[in-house]
Amino acid sequence: MEGLIYWFHGLKVELTSAALVSMTSHRQARFFSKEAGGQMFAKLSADHWRIEVATGPRHGDKRGRFHFWPNRKAEQEEINRFYEQGLEFVGDWHTHPENIPRPSRQDVTSVQNIVRESVHHLP
Ligand SMILES: [Zn+2]
Repeated sequence: MEGLIYWFHGLKVELTSAALVSMTSHRQARFFSKEAGGQMFAKLSADHWRIEVATGPRHGDKRGRFHFWPNRKAEQEEINRFYEQGLEFVGDWHTHPENIPRPSRQDVTSVQNIVRESVHHLP
């Protein structure tokens, strides 16, 4: 699987093949498949974010066909562990049981809360 590259103004955001494989291996391909999700960690420079790791799902996450509630303690442990390896937490991911996924209202609120509550120096 090829990696993907997105441009946000002058910022290049690269999803590596390894991270994509981790996420796509949890696609909800069957009617009974549960939502899966995790966190993304990247090597950062001023004009290039390279997302190298996509974690999850983890033991202790609560998963259903239409919901995913992560284990917050496990998330913080991941953030600490990858930070020591030079990788910064840059966001969450989760699956949807839709061919063309659209963020739910709860998804949007949740992302806004993460940005508001995070202490970081990222653009
Ligand atoms: Zn969602």
